[in-house]
Amino acid sequence: MEQIYDLMILGAGPAGLAAGLYGARAGLSTLILEKGTDGGQAVLTDRVENYPGAMLEDETGYSLTERMLAQAEAFGAVRKNAEIQSVQLDGDIKILAGSSVEYQARTVILATGASPRRLGCPGEEAFTGRGVSYCATCDGAFFRGREVFVAGGGDSAVEEALFLTRFARKVTIIHRRDQLRAVKTLQDRAFAHEKIDFIWDSTVEALEGQEALQTIRLRSKKNGEIRSITAEDGGMLGLFVFVGLTPNTQIFEGKLELEKGYVKTDENMRTSVPGVFAAGDLRVKSLRQIITAAADGAIAAMEAQRYLETAE
Ligand code: NAP
Repeated sequence: MEQIYDLMILGAGPAGLAAGLYGARAGLSTLILEKGTDGGQAVLTDRVENYPGAMLEDETGYSLTERMLAQAEAFGAVRKNAEIQSVQLDGDIKILAGSSVEYQARTVILATGASPRRLGCPGEEAFTGRGVSYCATCDGAFFRGREVFVAGGGDSAVEEALFLTRFARKVTIIHRRDQLRAVKTLQDRAFAHEKIDFIWDSTVEALEGQEALQTIRLRSKKNGEIRSITAEDGGMLGLFVFVGLTPNTQIFEGKLELEKGYVKTDENMRTSVPGVFAAGDLRVKSLRQIITAAADGAIAAMEAQRYLETAE
C-alpha cells in the first residue's frame, strides 16, 4: 500500500510542476503523477519566448519544463509514472487508481491539461504518423525539403508554421476564415515570411493516399467548392493540425463540476469538491499559457496547504 500523501498532483505540465514546487517547498509530502512525457503542451513547442526569464539561447518547452521538474524534486516532490484510470474525489482521502496501483492523498490538484483537437475528417486517423501530425517539433524534420500544410489560424498554427519553415520548402496555412486568430506579432512574422503562404476560407474535407498522405481535399467556406492538393512529386504531403484543444477531463466526468468539458474553479483554483483543486489548461479560463498554468499551480498548492491546515 502506497503512503497517504498530503498532496497528489495529476499531470506534470507547467501547472502540475509549479504546484509540485510550491507544495513540496511548503513542506507537504507531494506526489506528482504523469502518464507520459513531462511538460504537457509546452513540450510540443520548439520555442518559448513569452515565459518571463525563458530567454536562454535554444530554450525549448522541453528544456524549460525539465528544469521545472528538477526544481520541484529538489524540494522533495516525488514524481511517478502512472496512468490513472479512475478517481475517487469525495471523502477525506482522495484516491487516484491505475490498473494495478492506487495512490492516496488528503488533497489533489488536477492538472491534466488539454490535448490537440482533431479535425474529425475522413482519413485523419489513418494517416496520423504517415503525413498527419500534431507536433511540429516532433515531426517537422521528416519534411525537410518538402511542402507542408498547417490547419488552423490560432497562435499554435502560426507559431508552428514559422517553425516548420526551417525544414519545409514551403508552408501553407489553411484557415477556415479570412483572418487569423493568432496574436499580431506572430501574424506579422508569418505574413512577412517568404516561405509561408495562405489558403483562406477553407476547411479540410478529407485526407487520402496509399501508404501515406498524398491528397488533401479542401472545401471552400465561401462557395462549397472542393479542391484537391497533391504532392508535386507524388510523394508524401505533410499536414500539421493545430485547431485548438480538448480538455483531458473525461475521467472526472460526474465527479466534479465541468463546463463544456473544462473544470470550473473559483479564483483560488478550488473545484466543486472540497480538497480538490484544478490548475492549467483543463480549467475554465481565458488565457492558456505556460505562465498562467504555472500561476494556477502555485495558487492551487497554497490553497491545498490552507485546506490541510483548516482540516486538521
Ligand atoms: P485556438 O486559439 O483555440 O485556435 C484554434 C484555431 O483553429 C482557430 O483559428 C480556429 O478557427 C481553428 N479551428 C478550430 N476548429 C477548427 C476546425 N474544426 N477546422 C478548422 N479550423 C478550426 O487554439 P491554439 O492555437 O491551439 O491555442 C490554444 C491556446 O494556447 C490559446 O489560448 C493560445 O493563445 C495558447 N497558445 C499560446 C502560444 C503563445 O503564447 N506563444 C502558443 C500556442 C498556443 P477560428 O479562428 O475561426 O475560431
